[in-house]
Amino acid sequence: MRLLIAEDEPELAQQLKDAMTQAGYAVDLALDGEDACHLGSTEPYDAVVLDLGLPLMDGIQVLERWRRAGRAMPVLVLTARDRWSDKVAGIDAGADDYVAKPFHMAELQARLRALIRRAAGHSSAEIACGPIRLDTNAARVSVDGEEVRLTGHEFRVLAYLMHHKGRVVSRMELTEHIYDQDFDRDSNTIEVFIGRLRKKLGTDLIETVRGLGYRLVEPADTP
Ligand code: CA
Repeated sequence: MRLLIAEDEPELAQQLKDAMTQAGYAVDLALDGEDACHLGSTEPYDAVVLDLGLPLMDGIQVLERWRRAGRAMPVLVLTARDRWSDKVAGIDAGADDYVAKPFHMAELQARLRALIRRAAGHSSAEIACGPIRLDTNAARVSVDGEEVRLTGHEFRVLAYLMHHKGRVVSRMELTEHIYDQDFDRDSNTIEVFIGRLRKKLGTDLIETVRGLGYRLVEPADTP
């Protein structure tokens, strides 16, 4: 899962990036509205945290541009405390949720997790596929109740496939959702991550669809 964080206060931006990276996401930062607008228009994010008070282009304008252009990713706006009019403007412009500043990181993270899950069609915090369980709150994976230790990249690959289980996901799509923009990407490494995941999970629920990509299948769906 990959996030865009658009926040112009450098310290808060870094805190947000650190907390989200720690929680298992690939994170891109935008420190002004123009950069945010550009990134959100061109990169596929699983969710966005958008401060409304941004230099060069304010958050409402950024959000309106994205929505007009058909960009449908979940967006959580950060508003100034007690500015109810900001919240209304944010929701009207197409925001999915808001958090007022100052906020608790844990609340923001919980709201983001919920937005990402719902956008992928899951209502509960745990996503299951056969014996595999992904606890989206704790960023943990288990197989038959036994916790499986994964690296950050392996976790992001599996979390993306779990959120989109049953659907074929191309290597390119996986690449775009597990690395931040500064990472030196190599779509061949996806194959390596898939190989390691199959070994660590001890099940072969990750199907290779030749020429197209990978699909996580429920055991009952396998021929
Ligand atoms: Ca600001």
